Amino acid sequence: MLSTENRNLLKTISIYDKIPFEFNDGWTDLIYTLGKNIEMYCKLHNITTFEVRQIKEKFATLRFYYMGTNDEFLRAMVREAEEQTEIICEKCGKRGKTLVDDGRWYTACKEHTVDGSLTAKEFKVIQDARSKAMRKCNVCDTRGADGYWDGTTLTNRCEEHREDFITDDEYFIHWEEERKNAIKNK
Ligand SMILES: [Zn+2]
Ligand SMILES: [Zn+2]
Repeated sequence: MLSTENRNLLKTISIYDKIPFEFNDGWTDLIYTLGKNIEMYCKLHNITTFEVRQIKEKFATLRFYYMGTNDEFLRAMVREAEEQTEIICEKCGKRGKTLVDDGRWYTACKEHTVDGSLTAKEFKVIQDARSKAMRKCNVCDTRGADGYWDGTTLTNRCEEHREDFITDDEYFIHWEEERKNAIKNK
């Protein structure tokens, strides 16, 4: 959790007055700068309703909840800070990456990486393999089926029953492209 020194520093920012800090020391600078920028922006634009609800770490990245305004610039500022925490060590603030240690997510530099941790990507590959091993074919109930798109719906099929369906990944990529084109052509 946060050192007294860092806590006191953050408490000098008025929007952080009444909330607990549920993150570690490494993000202090980022959250301090964000608070300063929000204060300054709200002052310049006469926004008096901005209210922080919660600042916490979840799945090794920052979640910054607030209410009282729909201002787009503020939203972008907060989102950018949240994204930056994906590469800022929670402990010391040096550049790092998001890792998984025995199911626990954290973001750390080289020095603060726990031996044997997986990167978020490696973790996903293992998770996918596990869920594939459990997945049953919709036709014959054999385990180890893959996901496919049969033209109408997503379906799980073993090697024997996959027919000439495209995989669900291919389907989602295709769907994403269609969506982008639709937006472009508006
Ligand atoms: Zn570190
Ligand atoms: Zn089958």
